[in-house]
Amino acid sequence: MTGVYVHIPYCVKKCAYCDFCSVPRDASIDQYPDALCREIELSRDRLPYEGPVPSVFFGGGTPTVLPAEALIRVLDTVRRTYDLLPNAEITTECNPGTASYADFVKLRAAGFNRLSLGLQSADDRLLKALGRIHTYEQFLTAYGAARDAGFQNINVDLMHGLPGQTQADYLDTLQKVCDLGPEHISAYALILEGGTPLYTRVREGEVALPDEDAVADMEDAGMAYLKERGYARYEVSNFAKPGRECRHNLIYWNDEPYLGFGVAAHSSARGKGDWLRWSNTESIATYLKKLQRGKLPTAETLHIDKKEEMFEVIMLGLRKVKGIPRQAFLDRFGLSMEKAFPEAWLTVQANGWWADDHARYALTPQGMDHLNTALCYFR
Ligand code: SF4
Repeated sequence: MTGVYVHIPYCVKKCAYCDFCSVPRDASIDQYPDALCREIELSRDRLPYEGPVPSVFFGGGTPTVLPAEALIRVLDTVRRTYDLLPNAEITTECNPGTASYADFVKLRAAGFNRLSLGLQSADDRLLKALGRIHTYEQFLTAYGAARDAGFQNINVDLMHGLPGQTQADYLDTLQKVCDLGPEHISAYALILEGGTPLYTRVREGEVALPDEDAVADMEDAGMAYLKERGYARYEVSNFAKPGRECRHNLIYWNDEPYLGFGVAAHSSARGKGDWLRWSNTESIATYLKKLQRGKLPTAETLHIDKKEEMFEVIMLGLRKVKGIPRQAFLDRFGLSMEKAFPEAWLTVQANGWWADDHARYALTPQGMDHLNTALCYFR
């Protein structure tokens, strides 16, 4: 099975904290859908692929800055070129304010069955500080329109640790979102990335972020609240109602193959022997030019040796509450984690961070709090 990711590198306007590969939309946006379709078609015989496809994820950027017709054309190209499972999860990210009820109806009719709405906070003051283009009211309109259009699987993205945010502010957002009843909630702590306008403002003392302890307390309080409201944590920062875990993200965390299309998209799959990871050019101009000449826009390919592949499986798999099935690890590598990393295994055990589960390698909640430290032992 192989997941498909499609990157749309355009936004209405850049948010103050964002270092993703996205730019404010410009004239190149008109050529982009055709280039994507060409890349998908060219890739079929040139890239490693083990079908079928259980999930397609349109991310960005803001995919919904493209007209719904363009997204549908790209999805149809994926469908024509690769063998999508009939019940494939097909998601698009959407920034509130960039899609209408009419767009949602078209997307739903074309087979999109999951929507990921970026809210971040229900507090307009915080949305402004983040440079988001929408208000909470606009999010509510988009959410209602998506439901009316038939989307029965919606994720809402939230963040905590925002400028001036208190625990009460965060819990207020969680309460408002839980009251709406989305099937899935992603709740990430803000990461202050160098080079962003927010980074400069914080460094110059213009705005202050909550300190590390306050963010950890927000996280704990948020997790407890989400649990109370029926959202089970299944990954470090992801929560879902029963059976509504994101199938696409599970492909990443299970270190399964996926093909990424579009500017800066990453792919991961087994080549003729080694596991391969490759990425596309980050330049929109180069991307368009290469595809006009019938060339794939790959910029870099890495061959991952067995030891590194094992580490990646551990690094990604331990993010999940259910961790890594022992049998799956054994089948993939021919040896157990205890044998592959005896010292790391024992150190995690001595810290009391292995969950008591004989079928899986999984961390306790305390172990998950120390995930980065635990991973260092495997390096
Ligand atoms: S909408 Fe998302 S991708 Fe676009 S600038 Fe904001 S955070 Fe970045």
